[in-house]
Amino acid sequence: MANRAYNFNAGPAALPLEVLQQAQEQFVEFENSGMSLMEMSHRGAIYEKVHYEADNLLRELIGIPSGYKVLFIQGGASTQFAMVPMNLLRPGTTASFVATGSWATKAIQEAKLFGDVSIAASSEADKYNRIPSISELNYASDVAYLHLTSNETIEGTQWSEFPDTGNVTLVGDMSSDILCRPIDVSKFGLIYAGAQKNLGPSGVTIVIIREDLIVEPSTPVPTMMRYTTHAKADSLYNTPPTFAIYMMNEVLKWVKANGGAAGMETRNREKASLLYDFIDNSNGFYRGFAQPGSRSLMNATFRLGSEDLEKQFAKESEAQGFSGLKGHRSVGGLRASIYNAVPVESIRALVSFMRDFQSRNG
Ligand code: PMP
Repeated sequence: MANRAYNFNAGPAALPLEVLQQAQEQFVEFENSGMSLMEMSHRGAIYEKVHYEADNLLRELIGIPSGYKVLFIQGGASTQFAMVPMNLLRPGTTASFVATGSWATKAIQEAKLFGDVSIAASSEADKYNRIPSISELNYASDVAYLHLTSNETIEGTQWSEFPDTGNVTLVGDMSSDILCRPIDVSKFGLIYAGAQKNLGPSGVTIVIIREDLIVEPSTPVPTMMRYTTHAKADSLYNTPPTFAIYMMNEVLKWVKANGGAAGMETRNREKASLLYDFIDNSNGFYRGFAQPGSRSLMNATFRLGSEDLEKQFAKESEAQGFSGLKGHRSVGGLRASIYNAVPVESIRALVSFMRDFQSRNG
Protein backbone atom coordinates (compact mmCIF):
# COMPACT_ATOMS: atom_id res chain seq x y z
CA MET A 1 0.00 0.00 0.00
CA ALA A 2 1.69 3.17 -1.24
CA ASN A 3 0.12 6.02 0.67
CA ARG A 4 0.30 4.89 4.26
CA ALA A 5 1.16 7.80 6.56
CA TYR A 6 3.88 7.68 9.15
CA ASN A 7 1.33 7.39 11.92
CA PHE A 8 2.35 8.82 15.31
CA ASN A 9 -1.19 9.40 16.59
CA ALA A 10 -1.70 9.12 20.34
CA GLY A 11 -4.92 7.11 20.14
CA PRO A 12 -6.76 5.94 18.21
CA ALA A 13 -3.42 4.98 16.77
CA ALA A 14 -1.63 2.92 14.15
CA LEU A 15 -2.85 -0.63 13.64
CA PRO A 16 -0.79 -3.34 11.93
CA LEU A 17 -1.37 -3.17 8.16
CA GLU A 18 -1.76 -6.97 8.02
CA VAL A 19 -4.62 -6.71 10.52
CA LEU A 20 -6.40 -4.03 8.51
CA GLN A 21 -6.05 -6.07 5.35
CA GLN A 22 -7.33 -9.21 7.03
CA ALA A 23 -10.31 -7.26 8.40
CA GLN A 24 -10.97 -5.89 4.93
CA GLU A 25 -11.05 -9.40 3.49
CA GLN A 26 -13.46 -10.56 6.20
CA PHE A 27 -15.52 -7.38 6.35
CA VAL A 28 -18.48 -8.15 4.11
CA GLU A 29 -18.76 -11.83 4.81
CA PHE A 30 -17.36 -13.51 7.90
CA GLU A 31 -16.45 -17.20 7.68
CA ASN A 32 -19.02 -18.22 5.05
CA SER A 33 -21.88 -17.05 7.24
CA GLY A 34 -23.55 -14.95 4.55
CA MET A 35 -23.12 -11.81 6.63
CA SER A 36 -20.62 -9.52 8.23
CA LEU A 37 -19.53 -10.15 11.80
CA MET A 38 -21.14 -6.81 12.59
CA GLU A 39 -24.51 -8.10 11.42
CA MET A 40 -24.73 -11.22 13.54
CA SER A 41 -25.92 -11.98 17.04
CA HIS A 42 -23.48 -11.71 19.88
CA ARG A 43 -25.14 -14.86 21.24
CA GLY A 44 -24.30 -16.98 18.20
CA ALA A 45 -21.50 -19.54 17.99
CA ILE A 46 -19.50 -17.59 15.41
CA TYR A 47 -19.21 -14.42 17.47
CA GLU A 48 -18.72 -16.34 20.72
CA LYS A 49 -15.68 -18.05 19.25
CA VAL A 50 -14.09 -14.65 18.54
CA HIS A 51 -15.05 -13.39 22.02
CA TYR A 52 -13.45 -16.28 23.89
CA GLU A 53 -10.46 -16.41 21.58
CA ALA A 54 -9.70 -12.75 22.44
CA ASP A 55 -10.05 -13.56 26.15
CA ASN A 56 -7.68 -16.52 25.84
CA LEU A 57 -5.12 -14.61 23.79
CA LEU A 58 -5.08 -11.77 26.32
CA ARG A 59 -4.47 -14.33 29.08
CA GLU A 60 -1.69 -15.98 27.15
CA LEU A 61 0.07 -12.83 25.91
CA ILE A 62 -0.23 -10.68 29.05
CA GLY A 63 0.45 -13.71 31.26
CA ILE A 64 -2.73 -13.44 33.30
CA PRO A 65 -2.67 -16.07 36.05
CA SER A 66 -5.69 -18.17 36.99
CA GLY A 67 -7.74 -16.44 39.64
CA TYR A 68 -8.24 -13.36 37.46
CA LYS A 69 -11.13 -12.51 35.15
CA VAL A 70 -10.81 -10.57 31.91
CA LEU A 71 -13.76 -8.26 31.20
CA PHE A 72 -14.66 -6.37 28.04
CA ILE A 73 -16.43 -3.13 28.95
CA GLN A 74 -17.51 -0.05 26.99
CA GLY A 75 -17.13 3.60 27.92
CA GLY A 76 -13.36 3.81 27.62
CA ALA A 77 -10.77 4.00 30.36
CA SER A 78 -12.55 7.17 31.50
CA THR A 79 -15.46 5.03 32.66
CA GLN A 80 -13.02 2.92 34.67
CA PHE A 81 -11.95 6.09 36.49
CA ALA A 82 -15.44 5.91 38.03
CA MET A 83 -16.09 2.15 38.04
CA VAL A 84 -12.99 1.36 40.08
CA PRO A 85 -14.00 3.55 43.05
CA MET A 86 -17.70 2.69 42.65
CA ASN A 87 -16.81 -0.97 43.15
CA LEU A 88 -13.69 -0.95 45.33
CA LEU A 89 -14.06 2.12 47.53
CA ARG A 90 -16.17 1.24 50.55
CA PRO A 91 -17.68 4.02 52.66
CA GLY A 92 -15.15 5.21 55.21
CA THR A 93 -12.16 3.98 53.24
CA THR A 94 -9.61 5.96 51.23
CA ALA A 95 -8.13 5.36 47.79
CA SER A 96 -4.52 6.42 47.31
CA PHE A 97 -3.14 7.67 43.99
CA VAL A 98 0.23 8.35 42.47
CA ALA A 99 -0.16 11.72 40.79
CA THR A 100 2.02 11.34 37.69
CA GLY A 101 0.28 13.56 35.15
CA SER A 102 -2.83 14.38 33.18
CA TRP A 103 -4.46 10.94 33.22
CA ALA A 104 -3.71 10.19 36.87
CA THR A 105 -5.27 13.58 37.67
CA LYS A 106 -8.47 12.63 35.84
CA ALA A 107 -8.62 9.34 37.72
CA ILE A 108 -8.17 11.21 41.02
CA GLN A 109 -10.91 13.74 40.23
CA GLU A 110 -13.37 10.98 39.44
CA ALA A 111 -12.56 8.92 42.56
CA LYS A 112 -13.24 12.00 44.70
CA LEU A 113 -16.89 11.72 43.65
CA PHE A 114 -17.11 8.44 45.55
CA GLY A 115 -14.88 8.71 48.59
CA ASP A 116 -11.71 9.99 50.16
CA VAL A 117 -8.52 10.23 48.19
CA SER A 118 -4.94 10.50 49.36
CA ILE A 119 -1.87 11.19 47.26
CA ALA A 120 0.89 8.60 47.75
CA ALA A 121 3.39 10.64 45.73
CA SER A 122 3.27 13.39 43.15
CA SER A 123 5.59 14.81 40.51
CA GLU A 124 3.45 17.90 39.98
CA ALA A 125 6.27 20.13 41.25
CA ASP A 126 8.37 18.84 38.33
CA LYS A 127 5.56 19.47 35.83
CA TYR A 128 5.04 15.71 35.82
CA ASN A 129 8.25 15.10 33.92
CA ARG A 130 9.07 12.03 35.99
CA ILE A 131 7.59 9.00 37.72
CA PRO A 132 8.14 9.11 41.49
CA SER A 133 10.48 6.41 42.73
CA ILE A 134 8.98 3.50 44.60
CA SER A 135 10.68 4.67 47.80
CA GLU A 136 8.75 7.97 47.58
CA LEU A 137 5.38 6.23 47.84
CA ASN A 138 3.58 6.96 51.07
CA TYR A 139 0.15 5.49 51.76
CA ALA A 140 -1.63 4.05 54.78
CA SER A 141 -1.73 0.28 55.07
CA ASP A 142 -5.54 0.33 55.23
CA VAL A 143 -6.25 2.17 51.97
CA ALA A 144 -8.82 0.48 49.74
CA TYR A 145 -6.31 0.48 46.90
CA LEU A 146 -3.30 2.24 45.45
CA HIS A 147 -3.80 3.50 41.89
CA LEU A 148 -1.04 4.19 39.39
CA THR A 149 -0.97 5.15 35.72
CA SER A 150 1.69 2.93 34.15
CA ASN A 151 2.22 5.27 31.20
CA GLU A 152 1.29 8.95 31.11
CA THR A 153 0.32 9.36 27.47
CA ILE A 154 0.44 13.16 27.46
CA GLU A 155 3.64 13.82 29.42
CA GLY A 156 5.45 10.80 27.97
CA THR A 157 6.52 9.11 31.21
CA GLN A 158 6.33 5.43 32.13
CA TRP A 159 6.86 3.32 35.21
CA SER A 160 9.84 1.00 34.71
CA GLU A 161 9.05 -1.19 37.71
CA PHE A 162 5.97 -1.59 39.85
CA PRO A 163 5.79 -1.54 43.64
CA ASP A 164 5.11 -4.60 45.77
CA THR A 165 2.12 -3.42 47.75
CA GLY A 166 1.60 -6.52 49.87
CA ASN A 167 -1.95 -6.59 51.20
CA VAL A 168 -2.89 -3.30 49.55
CA THR A 169 -4.66 -3.80 46.23
CA LEU A 170 -2.68 -2.25 43.39
CA VAL A 171 -4.74 -0.82 40.52
CA GLY A 172 -3.11 0.13 37.21
CA ASP A 173 -4.36 2.24 34.32
CA MET A 174 -2.37 0.65 31.48
CA SER A 175 -4.32 2.23 28.65
CA SER A 176 -1.29 3.44 26.76
CA ASP A 177 1.24 0.70 27.42
CA ILE A 178 -0.63 -2.57 27.80
CA LEU A 179 1.30 -5.37 26.07
CA CYS A 180 4.26 -3.13 25.23
CA ARG A 181 6.44 -5.38 27.44
CA PRO A 182 6.03 -8.32 29.78
CA ILE A 183 4.53 -7.43 33.18
CA ASP A 184 3.87 -9.30 36.41
CA VAL A 185 0.07 -9.24 36.63
CA SER A 186 0.13 -10.84 40.07
CA LYS A 187 1.32 -7.54 41.57
CA PHE A 188 -2.02 -6.01 40.62
CA GLY A 189 -5.55 -6.53 41.87
CA LEU A 190 -6.99 -4.74 38.86
CA ILE A 191 -5.62 -3.49 35.54
CA TYR A 192 -7.64 -1.58 32.98
CA ALA A 193 -6.84 -0.38 29.50
CA GLY A 194 -8.74 1.19 26.63
CA ALA A 195 -7.95 -0.75 23.46
CA GLN A 196 -7.26 2.12 21.11
CA LYS A 197 -3.49 2.32 21.50
CA ASN A 198 -1.92 -1.14 21.62
CA LEU A 199 -4.87 -3.49 21.34
CA GLY A 200 -7.14 -2.35 18.53
CA PRO A 201 -9.67 0.31 17.66
CA SER A 202 -11.62 2.29 20.24
CA GLY A 203 -14.84 0.85 21.63
CA VAL A 204 -13.65 -1.78 24.07
CA THR A 205 -11.81 -1.46 27.37
CA ILE A 206 -10.28 -4.47 29.02
CA VAL A 207 -10.37 -4.97 32.77
CA ILE A 208 -8.23 -7.66 34.37
CA ILE A 209 -9.53 -8.22 37.88
CA ARG A 210 -8.56 -10.62 40.66
CA GLU A 211 -11.55 -12.73 41.56
CA ASP A 212 -11.67 -11.79 45.25
CA LEU A 213 -12.32 -8.17 44.17
CA ILE A 214 -15.43 -9.14 42.21
CA VAL A 215 -17.96 -8.53 44.95
CA GLU A 216 -21.26 -6.69 45.05
CA PRO A 217 -20.66 -3.04 45.98
CA SER A 218 -21.97 -1.97 49.36
CA THR A 219 -23.71 1.08 47.92
CA PRO A 220 -26.19 1.20 45.02
CA VAL A 221 -24.29 1.01 41.74
CA PRO A 222 -26.00 0.82 38.33
CA THR A 223 -26.03 -2.69 36.91
CA MET A 224 -23.73 -1.86 34.00
CA MET A 225 -21.21 -0.24 36.32
CA ARG A 226 -20.74 -3.32 38.50
CA TYR A 227 -17.85 -5.69 37.83
CA THR A 228 -20.03 -8.54 39.12
CA THR A 229 -22.46 -8.01 36.22
CA HIS A 230 -19.81 -8.37 33.55
CA ALA A 231 -17.88 -11.11 35.34
CA LYS A 232 -20.91 -13.35 35.82
CA ALA A 233 -21.87 -13.08 32.17
CA ASP A 234 -18.37 -13.37 30.65
CA SER A 235 -18.84 -9.81 29.34
CA LEU A 236 -22.00 -10.88 27.51
CA TYR A 237 -24.52 -9.35 29.90
CA ASN A 238 -25.59 -6.96 27.19
CA THR A 239 -24.41 -6.44 23.61
CA PRO A 240 -20.63 -6.07 23.60
CA PRO A 241 -18.81 -4.00 20.96
CA THR A 242 -18.46 -7.04 18.71
CA PHE A 243 -16.46 -5.44 15.92
CA ALA A 244 -13.97 -3.81 18.31
CA ILE A 245 -13.45 -7.16 20.05
CA TYR A 246 -12.97 -8.89 16.70
CA MET A 247 -10.34 -6.31 15.74
CA MET A 248 -8.62 -6.69 19.11
CA ASN A 249 -8.50 -10.44 18.55
CA GLU A 250 -6.78 -9.91 15.20
CA VAL A 251 -4.28 -7.48 16.77
CA LEU A 252 -3.55 -10.05 19.49
CA LYS A 253 -2.86 -12.71 16.84
CA TRP A 254 -0.41 -10.25 15.26
CA VAL A 255 1.28 -9.66 18.64
CA LYS A 256 1.60 -13.42 19.09
CA ALA A 257 3.08 -13.88 15.62
CA ASN A 258 5.61 -11.15 16.43
CA GLY A 259 7.02 -12.63 19.61
CA GLY A 260 4.36 -11.77 22.19
CA ALA A 261 5.01 -9.25 24.95
CA ALA A 262 8.77 -9.95 24.91
CA GLY A 263 8.89 -9.48 21.14
CA MET A 264 7.00 -6.19 21.52
CA GLU A 265 9.46 -5.01 24.15
CA THR A 266 12.46 -5.70 21.90
CA ARG A 267 10.80 -3.84 19.02
CA ASN A 268 9.72 -0.96 21.26
CA ARG A 269 13.14 -0.56 22.87
CA GLU A 270 14.80 -0.42 19.49
CA LYS A 271 12.31 2.20 18.27
CA ALA A 272 12.51 4.32 21.42
CA SER A 273 16.32 4.31 21.51
CA LEU A 274 16.52 5.41 17.89
CA LEU A 275 14.43 8.44 18.71
CA TYR A 276 15.76 9.33 22.18
CA ASP A 277 19.39 8.83 21.11
CA PHE A 278 18.85 11.19 18.22
CA ILE A 279 17.21 13.77 20.52
CA ASP A 280 20.05 13.47 23.05
CA ASN A 281 22.67 13.96 20.33
CA SER A 282 21.03 16.98 18.72
CA ASN A 283 23.18 19.47 20.67
CA GLY A 284 20.12 20.74 22.47
CA PHE A 285 18.10 21.55 19.36
CA TYR A 286 15.59 18.90 20.48
CA ARG A 287 15.03 18.50 24.21
CA GLY A 288 13.31 15.49 25.72
CA PHE A 289 10.54 16.51 28.13
CA ALA A 290 10.63 13.49 30.44
CA GLN A 291 13.57 12.86 32.73
CA PRO A 292 15.67 10.06 31.18
CA GLY A 293 14.86 7.48 33.89
CA SER A 294 11.11 8.02 33.36
CA ARG A 295 10.98 8.12 29.58
CA SER A 296 8.12 6.29 27.95
CA LEU A 297 8.62 3.57 25.35
CA MET A 298 5.25 4.57 23.91
CA ASN A 299 5.04 8.37 23.83
CA ALA A 300 8.23 10.34 23.23
CA THR A 301 7.68 13.99 24.18
CA PHE A 302 10.14 16.68 23.16
CA ARG A 303 10.48 20.42 22.77
CA LEU A 304 12.23 22.81 20.43
CA GLY A 305 13.75 26.21 21.20
CA SER A 306 10.51 28.17 20.74
CA GLU A 307 6.80 27.61 20.29
CA ASP A 308 7.04 29.11 16.81
CA LEU A 309 9.63 26.54 15.83
CA GLU A 310 7.43 23.79 17.29
CA LYS A 311 4.50 25.01 15.22
CA GLN A 312 6.66 25.02 12.13
CA PHE A 313 7.86 21.49 12.91
CA ALA A 314 4.28 20.27 13.35
CA LYS A 315 3.18 21.87 10.11
CA GLU A 316 6.10 20.74 7.96
CA SER A 317 6.08 17.20 9.33
CA GLU A 318 2.34 16.91 8.60
CA ALA A 319 2.92 18.09 5.03
CA GLN A 320 5.56 15.39 4.60
CA GLY A 321 3.28 12.55 5.65
CA PHE A 322 3.97 12.40 9.39
CA SER A 323 0.71 12.31 11.32
CA GLY A 324 0.04 13.25 14.94
CA LEU A 325 3.33 14.82 16.08
CA LYS A 326 1.80 17.87 17.69
CA GLY A 327 1.88 17.56 21.48
CA HIS A 328 -1.35 17.36 23.46
CA ARG A 329 -3.08 20.74 23.60
CA SER A 330 -2.76 20.83 27.38
CA VAL A 331 1.06 20.70 27.46
CA GLY A 332 2.22 21.81 23.99
CA GLY A 333 5.52 20.71 22.48
CA LEU A 334 5.78 17.64 20.28
CA ARG A 335 5.01 14.01 20.84
CA ALA A 336 5.66 10.90 18.81
CA SER A 337 3.42 8.04 19.90
CA ILE A 338 5.23 4.89 18.93
CA TYR A 339 2.89 2.11 19.99
CA ASN A 340 3.43 -1.58 19.19
CA ALA A 341 2.12 -1.34 15.64
CA VAL A 342 4.29 1.61 14.59
CA PRO A 343 7.05 0.06 12.45
CA VAL A 344 10.72 0.90 13.01
CA GLU A 345 10.76 2.32 9.47
CA SER A 346 8.45 5.12 10.64
CA ILE A 347 10.94 6.07 13.36
CA ARG A 348 13.82 6.01 10.88
CA ALA A 349 11.86 8.29 8.57
CA LEU A 350 11.02 10.60 11.49
CA VAL A 351 14.64 10.81 12.63
CA SER A 352 15.67 11.63 9.10
CA PHE A 353 13.04 14.39 8.92
CA MET A 354 14.20 15.71 12.31
CA ARG A 355 17.82 15.79 11.14
CA ASP A 356 16.84 17.69 8.03
CA PHE A 357 14.63 20.11 9.98
CA GLN A 358 17.50 20.83 12.36
CA SER A 359 19.93 21.47 9.54
CA ARG A 360 17.52 24.00 8.05
CA ASN A 361 16.65 25.71 11.35
CA GLY A 362 19.55 25.03 13.73
N1 PMP B 1 -5.81 6.73 30.64
C1 PMP B 1 -4.77 6.90 29.80
C2 PMP B 1 -3.38 6.61 30.28
C3 PMP B 1 -5.03 7.35 28.50
O1 PMP B 1 -4.01 7.53 27.65
C4 PMP B 1 -6.35 7.60 28.09
C5 PMP B 1 -6.70 8.05 26.69
N2 PMP B 1 -5.77 8.69 25.97
C6 PMP B 1 -7.38 7.44 29.01
C7 PMP B 1 -7.07 6.98 30.27
C8 PMP B 1 -8.81 7.73 28.65
O2 PMP B 1 -9.22 6.75 27.78
P1 PMP B 1 -10.62 6.77 27.01
O3 PMP B 1 -10.51 7.82 25.96
O4 PMP B 1 -10.68 5.38 26.48
O5 PMP B 1 -11.67 7.05 28.00
